[in-house]
Amino acid sequence: MVVALHSQSKKIKCWKCSQETTSLIFCDRCHSIQDYRVGTSISHYEVLNLPETLIIDENKLRHQFYELSKKLHPDRFVNENHPAPQYALRWTTALNRAYQTLKNREERTQYLVEKYLGASPQAAKAAIPTDLAEAYFEVQDLLSEGHTEPLLKFRSEIENQMEESQARWNELAQMFDQGPNKIQAAESLRKHENREKYIRSMLSDIERKVTS
Ligand SMILES: [Zn+2]
Repeated sequence: MVVALHSQSKKIKCWKCSQETTSLIFCDRCHSIQDYRVGTSISHYEVLNLPETLIIDENKLRHQFYELSKKLHPDRFVNENHPAPQYALRWTTALNRAYQTLKNREERTQYLVEKYLGASPQAAKAAIPTDLAEAYFEVQDLLSEGHTEPLLKFRSEIENQMEESQARWNELAQMFDQGPNKIQAAESLRKHENREKYIRSMLSDIERKVTS
């Protein structure tokens, strides 16, 4: 398990003017576009030039995405020689992937949790959280029996659980963002996300049944 800590100094040499540059996408000196360098560990946050936190300013995220999309637009590179257009395309792909991941709370959480803990073990993914097990199996029974009335009662209970779960995410995310023990916070977040996944799946199962 590798904890890839946020690197502040990824100095590279500009391919065009040979100047060392610290900004990732465009050279500090000649402003020519740099290679994305597929396979290196540039994080989604670095691509979007945002601080690496779970709680993010969504307006700022959107703003950064649109600004960079404009700067990387293929039209801007039609008159430039190889390899600039190709580099722009690579950055655009990386930018889109970064934005899609970070704008979604669950994906963003998973991304940072994996960064600190590595990929989730299969066994942990499959385990139903103990405090939800009873409700989960009861819902499954009711679903298979096709009684919608008790399911509707269950739904409001589970909706409450969902609200609590989302409030809990905020607490854990703050713990994670502020440190000092990111590993511990990441472990709590991983359990939390797994639990919420079951709550969500119960809700959508019930939803499908009562609206069909
Ligand atoms: Zn340069």
